[in-house]
Amino acid sequence: MEYTAHDLWQRVLELARERLPEPGFRTWLGGSEASAITADSLVVDVPSPFHVEWVEDKYGTVLHLLLEEVLGRPLPITLRCTGGDGPRVPVVELSPGPGAPSAAPGSAREGGGVPGGLRSGAFLNERYTFDRFVVGNSNQLAAAACQAVAEQPGRLYNPLFLYGGVGLGKTHLMHAVGNHILAKDPTKRIGYVPSEQFMNELVNAIQSGTTGEFRRRYRETDLLLVDDVHFLEGKERTQEEFFHTFNALHDGRKQIVLTSDRPPKEIPGLEERLISRFEWGLVADLKLPDYETRVAILRKKAHDDGITLDDEVMDYIARHCTSSVRELEGAVIKLLAFSSLKHLEISVPLARAALDGVLRSREESSTNLSPRAIREVVAREWEVRSEALSSKRRTRDLAVPRQVAMYLIKELLGLPLVEIGDLFGGRDHSTVIHSIRKVEETMGADPHYANRITAVRTRLEGR
Ligand code: ADP
Ligand code: MG
Repeated sequence: MEYTAHDLWQRVLELARERLPEPGFRTWLGGSEASAITADSLVVDVPSPFHVEWVEDKYGTVLHLLLEEVLGRPLPITLRCTGGDGPRVPVVELSPGPGAPSAAPGSAREGGGVPGGLRSGAFLNERYTFDRFVVGNSNQLAAAACQAVAEQPGRLYNPLFLYGGVGLGKTHLMHAVGNHILAKDPTKRIGYVPSEQFMNELVNAIQSGTTGEFRRRYRETDLLLVDDVHFLEGKERTQEEFFHTFNALHDGRKQIVLTSDRPPKEIPGLEERLISRFEWGLVADLKLPDYETRVAILRKKAHDDGITLDDEVMDYIARHCTSSVRELEGAVIKLLAFSSLKHLEISVPLARAALDGVLRSREESSTNLSPRAIREVVAREWEVRSEALSSKRRTRDLAVPRQVAMYLIKELLGLPLVEIGDLFGGRDHSTVIHSIRKVEETMGADPHYANRITAVRTRLEGR
């Protein structure tokens, strides 16, 4: 069913009215009106900046869940203040919460929010501190290295390169280094930039003829934190610019911390000279936390946020949410929202009900998707025998489906390259990188090929 922004918001308000205390509802949501719906958000106008803050703070989670209920999928809500002399610009975005794909907690303040400057600490999320980071087997080395670097920036490991899957704490640790240094010396100039933003700023600087200013801004920092450098793959001009920034800072003994979803060598389309520089200091990985660490994280979150979760509930969540720390956090938020919406005490049955959708969809995708299944579906699509893909034969009709199968296994299952190589007759990891890169390049150049791969992927994901 298609909704207009107005209808959609009215429906959400109806549901919210049943659940929220009447005076609060009237005061804070009475004057709200949705003005637009786009692919990435529902824009809702409220009369004052106070409304923006209050609604975000008190009703953000509930409204978001209700919108998801009405729409059948999560969609961020952008609150806009229309009253008084206030600017008619998006003020704050209610993120779908940490469990959802599009935003991390604190992301409204991170990165993309403030264009232009590298003001000290302006981009740091103050909740991301060492105090709030739970150290376990999975992240010990990374945490210790960050602490060492925060104590003696530019001296020990430069650069410090952190890598690991989504939601495992890379950004948190990186900000913790910045927060620590800033707490000791507020005059330090700290730059935090997701590498995508670095690229966007560079493009703007080139267009407006201000590359000199761009360079100066980055080269004058005492600590540069560059998040998600895997994004630089294939972006040659940005890599080149970054290479020079890196050298200038490194020569000046300024600390650099980088994060990525994989080690430097495995970032396809990253220049050799950058790979080698990224490996100069220390490369440390973050793995999935084990059960004990997951419980410790839940205990800490509950304590820090003043929530009471008994041991059984924590055990239930820790046993079921295994894919990342972000998933753990998302589970707690969902559970809290559920309990307040339904006026029920937090318990294991409630946790089961709250997490039902999340867990089921994951189980379905993980039980049915295996490297073997992916190979079979790809083989069928390209009309070759599945076993032939794992053989050493180098005939041309096998090359393309083999590359595609490698690519999809990396994309959908995230297996390490070495393991993928093993699945295909013991090919080494550089062959796997080459294959994956080839698929990505061809997808960029040939829409027909890209569609074909997207169709196969959708088929696999829908299993
Ligand atoms: P990444 O950058 O690796 O995708 P983030 O740093 O954004 O992950 O972490 C996701 C969420 O999980 C954040 O809210 C972060 O505070 C939290 N988190 C991750 N690891 C830990 C940890 N060891 N202890 C406490 N919180 C953590
Ligand atoms: Mg991150």
